[in-house]
Amino acid sequence: MELFIPHECDVCGYTGEPKLLFRGPHIQKMCPNCDKHVKFISKSHVPDYREIKSKIWVITQEIPFIEKIKQQTGFNAALIGLELNMAYWKLYTTIRIEYGLDFVESYFKKLTV
Ligand SMILES: [Zn+2]
Repeated sequence: MELFIPHECDVCGYTGEPKLLFRGPHIQKMCPNCDKHVKFISKSHVPDYREIKSKIWVITQEIPFIEKIKQQTGFNAALIGLELNMAYWKLYTTIRIEYGLDFVESYFKKLTV
């Protein structure tokens, strides 16, 4: 599956989607595994929640599972605009990690070798 914002961490080897956080006027792109700061990106780079939603749907259609992750991430469907996009981003990236789609390669290698 194509990634929205492909991220490869040069510190811990994580590959997948990055963690995005609000930082004043910017969005901070970070490694979800080791929290390394990658860079600041423009708010316009955060994908629209409708696009994120359809990607989640490709990964899983298990409603109880999605609901569980919504609870876990403090998802609030009453948000609007960028805040809603960011809430969906958190949901989407957490689901990816739960499904083992994003991982730390070195760790993965250790497990499989
Ligand atoms: Zn990292």
